[in-house]
Amino acid sequence: MEEITLPRKIVIKENTLPDIPRLIEELNNFKSILLVLGLKTRELLGKKIFDLLTKKGYVTNCIYVEKSDHSTLERIKKHARMLNVDLIIGIGGGKNIDIARAVSHFLEIPYINIPTILSHDGIASDRSVISEGKKKYPILANPPLAIVVDLKILSQAPYRFFASGCGDVIAKKTAVLDWQLARDEKNEDYNDLAANLAYFSADTIIKNANTHKKNYKSSIKLLAEALINCGMAMSITKSSRPCSGSEHMFCHTIDFLFPENKALHGEKVALGAYIMSFLHGIDFVEIRDTLLSYNLPVNYQQINIPQEILIKALSTAHKIRSDRRYTILKNGIKKDNAENILKRLEVI
Ligand SMILES: [Zn+2]
Repeated sequence: MEEITLPRKIVIKENTLPDIPRLIEELNNFKSILLVLGLKTRELLGKKIFDLLTKKGYVTNCIYVEKSDHSTLERIKKHARMLNVDLIIGIGGGKNIDIARAVSHFLEIPYINIPTILSHDGIASDRSVISEGKKKYPILANPPLAIVVDLKILSQAPYRFFASGCGDVIAKKTAVLDWQLARDEKNEDYNDLAANLAYFSADTIIKNANTHKKNYKSSIKLLAEALINCGMAMSITKSSRPCSGSEHMFCHTIDFLFPENKALHGEKVALGAYIMSFLHGIDFVEIRDTLLSYNLPVNYQQINIPQEILIKALSTAHKIRSDRRYTILKNGIKKDNAENILKRLEVI
C-alpha cells in the first residue's frame, strides 16, 4: 500500500446531468472531450450530455462502441489522438466503460464514468476486459477520475441488471474468505482495509435482501456505493484479489466451457458464491436465501446452463487462472465429488 490512486470525485444522486459541466470544470482545465457510448446510450443520455458540454464551450465529440474488442479499442485510440482529446467520458454499461478505460490507459488521458446500469463492479474498477475472438483479456488501467451515478437513470434500467450487480457484490464474501485462506496457508500478502471494504459491501447487500424491493431507489444507491467500495478495494491492492476468488474462477470456467451462455456475470458469480460458501463452511443457506430474494439463479434451470457444464466447471475452476490463485478449491475437486456437492446444494 505504498501508492494508491482513487477517484477524485464521486457523485451519487438523482438528476446528476446538470452538474456535469461544473464537475469537469472543478477537476481540471479540460478543453477537448470525447464521449464513448453505445447507440442506445446516445438516445438515453448522450445527446443531453453533448448539448450541456457544447453549450459550456467544450469541444465535444462522440464515438460509438458496439463491441469491447481490440479493433474497437484501436479505432477509438486513433480517433482520440486525432482530436487531441484531453478527457474521456464513458457512458453506459460494461462495454463502453471498458473501452473508455482502456483508451484512457493507453493514451494516458483521464476518464469519467457515467454508468447506466449497475450489473457488475466495473464502474469503479481499474481494469478493463477486452475481447479477442472468443478470448477475453484484462488490461490493468487507472481508476476513473470521477464517477457520476444518476439514480433516476439507473432506476429505469431493467431489474435484472440491478440483481446482477448485487450478485457481484455478494460474491466478495467468498472472495475475501479465499484471500484469508491464502494468507493463512500460503502466506500471501493481505490488506485489512481492502478486505474489509469488499467484505462489508457484501454484508450490506446481504442484509438489504429482504427489504430492497420496498425501497428500490435507496437500494440502488446502496448498490452503487458497494460497487464503488469494491473498486476502491481493488485500487488499494492493485489486484482483483479482494473481489475475485473461487466464485469468479467458477464463472470464468463456465464462460470458457460454454461461451454461448446468456447468464450475466453477477448471476454466475453469485451462484459460485453460494457453492463456495458451502465449501468454506459458512452459512450457505443464508447466501441461497439472499440470492432468491434478489431473484438470482440458484440452480441450473434458472441460470440456463447444462448440468454437465456446471459439474465440469466446479471440478476444473482451480486451473482457470494462469497464476493459480489459491482458493478453497485448492488443488481441485474430483468430478464425482463436484457432482455430489451440486446435488446436495440442489444446483443440479
Ligand atoms: Zn465480478
